[in-house]
Amino acid sequence: MTSHHQVGNALDVWEIGLSMTPAARALLLLGAAGRHDAGSRPVGERDRALLQACLPAGRWLDAVTECPSCGSQLDVELDPAALVAPTASEPQVSVVCGEYRVVARLPTGDDLAQLSPSGLVEELRTALLARCVVSADHAGRAVESSVLPEPVLLAVESAMAAADPGADVQVTLSCAECGAEWSSSLDPVRFAWTSVEHAARRLAVDVHTLAQAYGWSEAEILRLSPFRRRLYLSAVAP
Ligand SMILES: [Zn+2]
Repeated sequence: MTSHHQVGNALDVWEIGLSMTPAARALLLLGAAGRHDAGSRPVGERDRALLQACLPAGRWLDAVTECPSCGSQLDVELDPAALVAPTASEPQVSVVCGEYRVVARLPTGDDLAQLSPSGLVEELRTALLARCVVSADHAGRAVESSVLPEPVLLAVESAMAAADPGADVQVTLSCAECGAEWSSSLDPVRFAWTSVEHAARRLAVDVHTLAQAYGWSEAEILRLSPFRRRLYLSAVAP
């Protein structure tokens, strides 16, 4: 789904996105930030745009996680924008595997948003490859992506992953208590969505405070610039 409606504030974005799949939320958040083009870019680029759009400059991601080996709680501080590795300049891969030759483009945010939310993993994989395979041939004869054997599909997928490393961000963590090291994946969509959720909750509290103090409606309060909203809030709050 490509979302082109203009979305005003964190409350609207949150409410509209609540019922959406993560892939559709990613496009919603980018649309709200004026980045309507990002859906047609490879997933790693989408994720980089999402982190830029949803993360105040210089803000670090704080997370608490548990060591899988000794169970200690660790505080992790990461710069998510620096974690998303750049996508290859060529948004297409060519793979030769035995007598098969496949050319495929890198999956985009739009591709992910088009997949059925209720599909099984194997169906989603087939659907995604069908969208992305540009041409496939076996011993020089064109074939459908659906008849490609498993080793060829794996080779195509690993070429895609190598060309768009930002589509799967792995972070290496280590435990100060026991020295264990492990890697964990960072989900930029979930992270961006959580930051919108927090902003929406803060905004709702501000609306409540100002409505109670001045009798203004929600619409009137949301029309105030953030600067004026803070000014009136500071007059209300002790
Ligand atoms: Zn540990």
